Parts: sequence; C-alpha cells; structure tokens
Amino acid sequence: MTDTTTLERTTPSATTIVDHWVGGRPWQGESDRTGEVYNPALGTVQREVRFATAEDTAHAISVAAEAAASWRNVSIAKRQQIMFAFREIVNARKDELARILTAEHGKVLSDALGEIARGLEVVEFACGLGHLTKGAYSENASSGIDVYTLRQPLGVVGIISPFNFPAMVPMWFFSVALAAGNAVVLKPSEKDPSAANWMAAALTEAGLPDGVFNVVHGDKVAVDTLLGHPDVAAISFVGSTPIARYVYETGTRNGKRVQALGGAKNHMLVLPDADLDLAADAAVNAGFGSAGERCMAISVVLAVDTVADELVEKIAERMGRLRTGDGTRGCDMGPLITGAHRDKVASYVDIAAGDGAEVVVDGRGIEVDGDPNGFWVGPTLLDNVPTSSAAYRDEIFGPVLSVVRVTGYEEGLGLINASDFGNGTAIFTNDGGAARRFQHEVNVGMIGINVPIPVPVAYHSFGGWKASLFGDAKAYGPHGFEFFTAEKAVTSRWLDPSHGGLNLGFPQHS
Ligand code: NAD
Repeated sequence: MTDTTTLERTTPSATTIVDHWVGGRPWQGESDRTGEVYNPALGTVQREVRFATAEDTAHAISVAAEAAASWRNVSIAKRQQIMFAFREIVNARKDELARILTAEHGKVLSDALGEIARGLEVVEFACGLGHLTKGAYSENASSGIDVYTLRQPLGVVGIISPFNFPAMVPMWFFSVALAAGNAVVLKPSEKDPSAANWMAAALTEAGLPDGVFNVVHGDKVAVDTLLGHPDVAAISFVGSTPIARYVYETGTRNGKRVQALGGAKNHMLVLPDADLDLAADAAVNAGFGSAGERCMAISVVLAVDTVADELVEKIAERMGRLRTGDGTRGCDMGPLITGAHRDKVASYVDIAAGDGAEVVVDGRGIEVDGDPNGFWVGPTLLDNVPTSSAAYRDEIFGPVLSVVRVTGYEEGLGLINASDFGNGTAIFTNDGGAARRFQHEVNVGMIGINVPIPVPVAYHSFGGWKASLFGDAKAYGPHGFEFFTAEKAVTSRWLDPSHGGLNLGFPQHS
C-alpha cells in the first residue's frame, strides 16, 4: 500500500532546505529566516531549515483546526488502521530513517535504530487505543437514571520536541494524540529537523487525512505562537528545564493543558553487595550511549567507599574498549550535536578538575574514527567529584560520567533526593530489601533496579518528578491518553410513565 514517492521527496539531499509540512505536503511559508543543520560527525553545514514566522505557525494551526473537526468523527477502527499502516511503513523503512538521524544528530546507526524501535512501541500502544476509550457506565445510578463517562479529543495539540530523540520523542506524543482523535502541529528541534518531515510523509502515506498532522520548523517564534494561539488546546513539550518551566508557565497562563518534560541528572547508586561487573557494564552503557545526550543517561555513579576503587577501575577498563567516531562506521559513540555544545561539555571537565575532581579518563582531544572537524568529546570519567561543583549539580548532557564516593545507602539516597532533578535513577544491589526500600524512599519518577536506563514500556507512562516534569501528566501510556482527551460525564433518563412533576430542589437520588 505504500507509495514511496512522498517519502523519497522528504529524504533530504545535500542541497535541501527543509520545508514545513502543512496540509499533507511540504510548505515554504513566508519567512526568509533559516537555520543551519550540521552533520556533527563532519562539523559542516549539510542543509538549512526554515524558521517559521508567527503567521506561518498560525496558518498551520488553522489548517490543523479545520482538519480536527472531521478527524474527531473518524471511527476508532479507522484511526487505528492508519496507525497500523504508519507502523508498517516505518518498520519497513527504518534504515532510511535511521540514516537521517545519524546524519543530523550524530548518534551511531545501531542507536538510531534503537530509538526508532522504542518510538514504534508507542505507535503500537496507540494501535490498541480503542481499549482506553471505553468509559465507565453506572446503570440505575438513581431510579431510571444511568450515568456514564466518555472521553473526547481536545482539538489541536502542539508538540515541541528536543534534538536528542528526533523520531522517538515526537512518536511518544503524536501517535497517542492522533489515535485519540486530535490534530497535531509538531515543532521539532531546529538542530535535526528532517526526521519530522519523513514521519509526516509516512503518516500521509499511511492514509492520515491532510492537515491532521503538520510540522512547523523554527525557534522561539513558532513556540510562542503555539503557546498563545487560542485554537491550540494542549502543549506537550520536551527539552531543557528552563525552557520547560517557561513553556509550562506560559501555556497554562493562556489556559492550555501543558505537560513539559525537562532536564535530568540521573544517579546510579552501587551498593557493596552489587555485582560490580554488571554495574560497570551498566554505568558505561548508560553513561556513554548516544554520547550521554539522553535524558535517561546515567551521569553520576554513587559508589560506596568499600567498593569504589574496584568499580572505578572496572569502568575505566571498559571505557578503554569504546570506539568513538562517525556513526556510520560501526563505532560505539558518535559526536555531540554542535560545536558550542562540545565546548560546553568540555568546559565542565575543566570545572570539575578545578574543583578538585580527578580526571581518570579524559575525552578531550581524543583520536576518533572520523573527521577531525566533527564535534567530538570522548568518554570521560571523573572521580571524587565534590557535590559542591557545578559539574556535579548541572546537567552536562555529554559523555562525562562523575563518580561520587559515599559512605553507604543513606548518604547516597540523600544526594539523590537533594537533586533539583527527579527523572531517572538506578540502584545496583543483590539485596532485595535494600532495593525495595530504595523504590519507596527515593523522590524520582522512574527507577531501575539493576537496570540503568529504566524507560517504562509504552503501556506504562514516562516522566520524572521535580524539575524534570512540569504538569501532572506523564508521556504516553494511560497518562498520555488522558492528557490528549477530555472526559464528559453523562446523566441520562429515558422517559417512562413514572416520570414527571415539578420539583425545584437539588436533584437527589430516589
Ligand atoms: P531545548 O530546551 O534547547 O529545546 C527544546 C525545544 O524547545 C526545541 O524545539 C527548541 O527549538 C525549543 N526552544 C529552545 N529555546 C527556546 C526558547 N527560548 N523559547 C521557546 N522554545 C525554545 O532542549 P534540547 O537541547 O533540544 O534537548 C536537550 C534537553 O532536553 C536536555 O535538557 C534533556 O534532558 C531534555 N530532554 C528531556 C527528556 C525527558 O523526557 N525529560 C527527554 C529528552 C530530552
């Protein structure tokens, strides 16, 4: 059923300007502003992306609003069929999408495929959304009166996504939003915009009516228009904490439903009874996968003193086996997203060293299997990082793993709970009682027990606590469905001869 011409048109070539996608096709809009899209492994600009004006964004919203009016009346069965078809298209052509991710984000191809697989899990969840749309029904709540609930789509929803998962994070939101009957305007990261257009074309080919899914590229101008426009009912945002806070406060002030997922600083507590080889593998995989540019990356290892030396040695030994380089060459770890971000990440190594940390493995200036002009920082290990250092407190979002030595469980738990962030955490132990206590006492939204990146499966929901999530709805799963729908409670009575008569009192049950 797949007509591949549209997809091919959205697979970028070296000379492409990435257009918006509005009304089922590429759209240029009116703006003459553009941004540069780099290939981070080469350090060169490979294409440009249009930056929408407020009017461009408002146009996309009006197209979505018109499409939403009929999309909400399309049957659940038909909506699910379209999501199934989208799933089949992405699955069949995932190598093509993965190459786009690697070219613009830099993550290695195997990791790009992993991102797509985790996004597709949510699409698969959305294919079964009919189950969640079933409301509650109370027969005879009062004599002859039935009460039932139903959930309806909101209309137009805005999705604003970060650079680090250009396919998965949009899929977390749009698949549930669309299956629930909403129309979408997606504003992806301007740093790696092409995946959004590729997915938009795939949705069109899957049979989604024109205008139900739109992509507007750009920056704060587009975001602010989404946040202020009266026809946008809800906003799903993922990005850094300061912008998440801004989006939440602005959107809710404008009367919108907002879920804004922010940054992270994820700690992994390793107790002395843990399997240290398993813990070292996990710290390296979760610390350096995707060059540490994951909101669920482990960035701090809390090592109990008695095993800390051995653990640091095991981590450093494993890091020596990693190959950093171009994501298309079978390396383990790719570049950072921009030159500015590379410099910021490297500066934190200086800060930590200046604050007294020991640089055990230094990734600055390493030799890579790739172009020397790429945005490289190799895997870096810091030991004895003082908790007063900005390198400990701030989200670095790069391949820098900090080891903080603690006296035991209590001190480790105290540090995790004192963090501004509460996205993910992990405990490594063979003591079930300690693990159980940890899950009860830690103030974090997603917890791994001997699992370093505890991203919940699609039928649970994803989200952190504290400065890692503003709003009370997590992403996807049951929370996602509730976020993208509004509940109605209906109280109904069908006339029978016993009804009638005047009574001005407040309705009471009989
Ligand atoms: P970012 O905050 O810079 O950008 C996110 C989005 O906001 C982008 O679409 C961007 O164009 C837009 N934006 C940027 N500046 C803006 C401004 N001043 N006003 C309005 N909009 C603006 O984040 P990023 O660098 O793209 O992504 C990395 C961050 O995202 C990290 O902090 C990471 O932890 C976080 N993240 C969190 C999760 C999560 O689930 N909690 C998941 C992925 C990424």
